[in-house]
Amino acid sequence: MIELQVIERFSPNHGPRADPARIDMLVLHYTGMTTAAAALERLCDPDAHVSAHYLIEENGVIWRLVPENRRAFHAGVSCWERESDLNSVSLGIEIVNPGHEWGYHRFPDAQMASVEHLCRNLIVRYSIPAHRVVGHSDIAPERKSDPGELFDWARLARAGIGIWPPAKPAARQVAKGPAESLRNLSTIGYCANAVSQTPALVAFQRRFRQECCDGRLDAETAARLSEVSEAFARSRAASAGK
Ligand SMILES: [Zn+2]
Repeated sequence: MIELQVIERFSPNHGPRADPARIDMLVLHYTGMTTAAAALERLCDPDAHVSAHYLIEENGVIWRLVPENRRAFHAGVSCWERESDLNSVSLGIEIVNPGHEWGYHRFPDAQMASVEHLCRNLIVRYSIPAHRVVGHSDIAPERKSDPGELFDWARLARAGIGIWPPAKPAARQVAKGPAESLRNLSTIGYCANAVSQTPALVAFQRRFRQECCDGRLDAETAARLSEVSEAFARSRAASAGK
């Protein structure tokens, strides 16, 4: 494994992990601020009460703000696979991008190369299973939209990071209804109910069907849901058998 090159900067915003400590999840964010400097400032501001373990600049430079064994404050109120307090079990990576509010754009190649490098390093060292590599919007669909529909999850999956089954060219015939959709969302890991189904579908689309994020359960979204939920079920079964 190539050694990680990081710049250290201390953020005071962290605490102890729950006991016994377990780290088996990776949460990817965008910073949603106009500059990297502003994001670094905020993530290290004791009054802001937010942080992440790492931040990756657009030029690929990686900063470490919080030691990995500490609980950083990045996930907020969130849920995945019916588990909350995800800060306790996860590592958080902030990826510099202005975000939907300040001029959202694609993530440059140098930055994505560092995202790949850092994720791979953490996944190997902590044996993080593929179905526990998520975006912030996956675990907080009603509040968050990062890293968003321009983030290249397919590229990460090709590098062995997370799950992103190649979309099949022809839509499959699948049962298509709110009940089936909720079942598939929860098989993937989303904590959704009848009331929060639309934001969960938007989060699903931002990640797995990025060209249309309208939260509607059309035939293509239903087919993609079934395909993705099968891939997550396979990953979970494989890691349970280890
Ligand atoms: Zn976030």
